[in-house]
Amino acid sequence: MFYHDYLKKIKSCPFCKAKKRMFIDNESAYLTYSKAPYHSHHLLVIPKRHVVSFFNLSAQEDKDIAALVKIGAQILKKLKYDSFSILVREGPDSDKSIKHLHYHLIPNIRIGDVDAHGIPRKILTASEIKSLSAKIISLASKIK
Ligand SMILES: [Zn+2]
Repeated sequence: MFYHDYLKKIKSCPFCKAKKRMFIDNESAYLTYSKAPYHSHHLLVIPKRHVVSFFNLSAQEDKDIAALVKIGAQILKKLKYDSFSILVREGPDSDKSIKHLHYHLIPNIRIGDVDAHGIPRKILTASEIKSLSAKIISLASKIK
């Protein structure tokens, strides 16, 4: 079955009722596999509570997710992967098909040489770096 057909078939959140899929868990999160993997060892870390945005995680959930991401990463290392990516999709245009927040751990995936618009990536100019830095540092100073 293709993933797009699976998505049409599901009637409730698959991550809220995934107890049988847990490899390891802690108080507020669990480590599992991806049912529609990009790679044969594509792992997921999922909060137990149905939460859509990582901005809404509690401090305990942040801590528990980070602990399981590290365990998942160690498992990938034991599987002899030197390279893997940790990916979280956030926001309505992020292409997140299951709305329940989840962290992907994907071995040997190349994000690629193209940018988010499919255009070959460019090196920032000195003025672009200066402008970007000023904006990000300014925003960061306003975040508590
Ligand atoms: Zn859910």
